[in-house]
Amino acid sequence: MLIALLPGDGIGPEVIAEAKRVLDALGLDGLSYEEALVGGAAYKAAGHPLPAATLDLAKRADAILFGAVGDPDCDALERHLRPEQAILGLRKELELFANLRPASLFPELADESALRPEIAKQIDMVIVRELNGDVYFGEKGMRETDGGKREGYDIMSYNEDEVCRIAHVGFKTAMARGKKLCSVDKANVLETSQLWRDVVIETAAEYPEVELTHMYVDNAAMQLVRNPGQFDVIVTGNLFGDILSDQASMCAGSIGLLPSAALDNGGKGLYEPIHGSAPDIAGQGKANPLATILSAAMMLRYSLDQADAAGRIEAAVAKALADGARSFDLGGSMTTSEMGDAVISALT
Ligand code: NAD
Repeated sequence: MLIALLPGDGIGPEVIAEAKRVLDALGLDGLSYEEALVGGAAYKAAGHPLPAATLDLAKRADAILFGAVGDPDCDALERHLRPEQAILGLRKELELFANLRPASLFPELADESALRPEIAKQIDMVIVRELNGDVYFGEKGMRETDGGKREGYDIMSYNEDEVCRIAHVGFKTAMARGKKLCSVDKANVLETSQLWRDVVIETAAEYPEVELTHMYVDNAAMQLVRNPGQFDVIVTGNLFGDILSDQASMCAGSIGLLPSAALDNGGKGLYEPIHGSAPDIAGQGKANPLATILSAAMMLRYSLDQADAAGRIEAAVAKALADGARSFDLGGSMTTSEMGDAVISALT
């Protein structure tokens, strides 16, 4: 099995290095690795944030472990050359349409949540976000109004096939958990959302055991902080999911703790921490590598058929935290590699 390592920018290479050390420490047979540039690092070396060689590796690989992209030096580039375009390009080219973001709280970190501990302790959910459609991929541009004013526009759309395939992922994820699915939309004002809701209801006929509810996105944002324990699985579109999944993650603790997966229809996936390249702490050994280490665990489970190894990593992370391992974002002083060491020693 070939794993593509795409460290990217900022703290990306620092956290990927720790995830790779943890994977090596598992001593699994049959895994090989190839590394390639992506994001700002790729733009600086090869003139494009997603060079052909990187895309080729991503296509050949069985799974991709991704750090983060984003470099302040590149902020003034034309949009299609900015580092962030690499992740959008990979999602599109590889048809990675389903983003799974688990959000749950490690009990010993209840004080790190933005919520009161008694509310934070309820959080145990997965947000399933559609990744390949919606307003991010619609027609967009700048134009001039009749009155000579500048006007920006981005068209939101979903077709029924796109909604149907993500709805199936939502229902299947719910079947593997608490059998509750909440579909989040804005059907009171958006036609795109009305279609979304209709198709989710049609798809529900195939999953009679799953209790389906619907919620408008503004209410969902409120309920996530008011009563997060009501959610088991949330399925939603690209734009709403982008915002709600970051909100859920801060409720669950530090951004440095949460993994994610972006899956295609055939089991291939791109695995990455939910955080970005954190240029403010890059190169200082302050990055928490646990989100990336947990992303590697998701990779083993969803793409490499190694659920036992995934469970070993997750248990080691929980043990390291229970034993007091704390990086700077968790109020401690352990460096990125010391956090990696703590997980590795909890493995053995
Ligand atoms: P960010 O996630 O990089 O950082 C937000 C805050 O969280 C910062 O204070 C940072 O220091 C902290 N933080 C993030 N990860 C951490 C970790 N592992 N350990 C400890 N602290 C951590 O978000 P941002 O500052 O909005 O964006 C920075 C760059 O990253 C931008 O260029 C943005 O476009 C990019 N970005 C990339 C991705 C991606 O690669 N998928 C996702 C989000 C943002």
